[in-house]
Amino acid sequence: MLRIDGLSAAYGRIKVLWDLSLNVGSGEAVGLFGPNGAGKTTLVNCVFGFLKPISGKVFFQDKDITGMEPHEIVKLGIALVPQERELFPNMTVEENLRAGANYVPHARERMPEAFDLVFTLFPILKERLKQKVGTMSGGQQRMVAVARALMSFPKLLILDEPSVGLQPSIVSELFSKLKEINNQGVSILLIEQNVKQGLKVVERGYVIENGRIVLEDSSTNLMNNDHIKKAYLGL
Ligand code: ATP
Repeated sequence: MLRIDGLSAAYGRIKVLWDLSLNVGSGEAVGLFGPNGAGKTTLVNCVFGFLKPISGKVFFQDKDITGMEPHEIVKLGIALVPQERELFPNMTVEENLRAGANYVPHARERMPEAFDLVFTLFPILKERLKQKVGTMSGGQQRMVAVARALMSFPKLLILDEPSVGLQPSIVSELFSKLKEINNQGVSILLIEQNVKQGLKVVERGYVIENGRIVLEDSSTNLMNNDHIKKAYLGL
């Protein structure tokens, strides 16, 4: 579904990603794990057309999307929950959710269906439709961000460190929702520093360090990997 082939990227003269390859199959949930500054957000920026790679290609459903504009990429069926939530804090939950569908013609037509879908996943949002997002808790805002991405009926959902700043119980709740979303057939690329919780959601994962993929394996094997245990699980 998503295939990244030999991607290298830089900010000016500072190279940040080296020859990075990864893929997410149809219906799969895949993790990309790594510490601060490893290059995870830079990868997202390349996939989404915010940053042009120096070399390498990004394919979505076998279509070369390298360098395409972000709004075109969303129309193809990829939705992003960015690290900075980029919600509109002075707008209501409803207005934020509508914004997730407004720019995608096939989603705009199915908006009532999309609202039903996100209310089933996050019932609290139905009660809070008229509340301004800026007045909600961090956990609730993150749920709005995920719900907003789902309003476009994505085939692939990319989440850039959704656990940041949330208390552990809220992370567990949010991640169990991601599993539900994946079970409904949406492919997921989960980008996380929280490897312990992240591995519970995904079937497979990659580890990125200093801009390079250093490890790729099933979640079970990653959980038992010595480097992962020491560097990420504190064991
Ligand atoms: P974090 O968890 O902190 O977001 P990350 O794995 O997402 O980390 P990136 O944000 O992709 O890492 O950053 C990778 C490297 O690129 C870091 O060394 C960072 O300082 C640098 N970098 C990120 N954004 C820019 C920018 N706009 N200009 C210059 N350098 C940048």
